[in-house]
Amino acid sequence: MSLVTTDYDLIIAGGGMVGSALACALGAADLKIALLEGAPLERIRPGLDLDSRVSAISRASQRIFAAVAAWDGMTAWRVSPFRDMRVWDATGFGSIHFDSADLGEPLLGWIIENRVIQYALLERARQLPAVDLLCPAVLETAEPLPGNGWRVRLNDGREFTTRLLVGADGAQSKVRQLAGIDTGGWGYAQKAVVGNVRTAESHQETAWQRFLPAGPLAFLPLHDGRCSIVWSTTPEQADSLLALDDSAFAEALAEAFDRRLGSIVEVGPRGAFPLRLQHAHAYVKPGLALIGDAAHVVHPLAGQGVNLGLLDAATLAEVILDALVAGQDFASFKTLRRYERWRKGDNLLMLGVMDGFKRLFGASLPPVRLLRNVGLNLTDAAGPLKNLIARRAMGLEGDLPRLARAAG
Ligand SMILES: Cc1cc2nc3c(=O)[nH]c(=O)nc-3n(C[C@H](O)[C@H](O)[C@H](O)COP(=O)(O)OP(=O)(O)OC[C@H]3O[C@@H](n4cnc5c(N)ncnc54)[C@H](O)[C@@H]3O)c2cc1C
Repeated sequence: MSLVTTDYDLIIAGGGMVGSALACALGAADLKIALLEGAPLERIRPGLDLDSRVSAISRASQRIFAAVAAWDGMTAWRVSPFRDMRVWDATGFGSIHFDSADLGEPLLGWIIENRVIQYALLERARQLPAVDLLCPAVLETAEPLPGNGWRVRLNDGREFTTRLLVGADGAQSKVRQLAGIDTGGWGYAQKAVVGNVRTAESHQETAWQRFLPAGPLAFLPLHDGRCSIVWSTTPEQADSLLALDDSAFAEALAEAFDRRLGSIVEVGPRGAFPLRLQHAHAYVKPGLALIGDAAHVVHPLAGQGVNLGLLDAATLAEVILDALVAGQDFASFKTLRRYERWRKGDNLLMLGVMDGFKRLFGASLPPVRLLRNVGLNLTDAAGPLKNLIARRAMGLEGDLPRLARAAG
């Protein structure tokens, strides 16, 4: 097979949490990699105060961060462990409690600001000789080269060729559009209101979630005693919540949370994000792969979106490295299909489960309400099933790529 000479072996479009993790995972390989990030680094650098965009990070994701030597960079900023999770239904008697001690684990996961994750990964990528971090650099167009590979053009006019183009450029992925890959899915007619608040009572290092008829309300514990909230609700209610002054918002929030942690004594800046389910019809083409939100967008109710994306990154890195060791073409459709086959089933399963939860808890018909309450309590009482769900969500089970497995 004849290979054209290219400027890069790999161009990763998007240096978000997922794209930068892929660059770090491949940084020791004999490859020439460009990581393009549209936002300037100063805008990504974490601030003195906690940001309102956070992610619940699974144990598997933390292992990936540690394996690519970016975890210390995150702890140097701030990370918040959580050890328990409590979920209950506002319209009934059902509840479930996951306790790390019952699972024989020190903790369930961490709450980390997105900017802390992204910045630590970008800083790590910058240290790797194989990686050119181009930031800010926006991919504007891409076209397939005759033979194989891609030519990309940036918004500043620079052009590069590459053997493999990876779209890690988020839900609105330009790479996906340029490659002509369609998506399926639907909007949820919901927005998530996010922000950091302080409650009168301690959060007890517990992730709390109350299912309200309009959507789930989560309180996620932060290391300084505050909670990060994710309140999924109708777009109309989200907009009116954003328009409230701080004290009226604090009261509405305490009420919606059934004052489980007492009153809300401090509220920070708020923002809102529309929610949707989206899945790319294909993750790969010859010389091209999609990872993270470019490939799939999931409802945030179980905090799985970036965790799935990080598994994509670790899996794609593994498939590429294995192909290099075997002397195969790492950018060929055959190699990339291994990545797609490995990840698509898992991602679709999680998309389906989260969508099912969303619908189940959104249903107001009395028999459905009764069933879901009974189901929650039965699951809570059924030790093995509950442990299986918890271990799966923590990323301790399943067909994990090497970087996400426990050391030793
Ligand atoms: C309210 C809310 C709460 C959530 N909570 C959780 C949670 O608790 N746990 C969890 O796992 N997930 C959570 N998620 C999902 C998570 O935020 C996403 O899955 C994650 O951000 C996807 O990361 P990504 O790197 O794939 O994409 P993005 O975060 O969208 O990053 C894409 C990057 O690409 C860059 N870019 C875009 N276009 C270009 C271009 N043309 N050229 C160069 N660069 C480009 C962007 O600047 C950006 O940095 C939540 C989502 C929402 C909305």
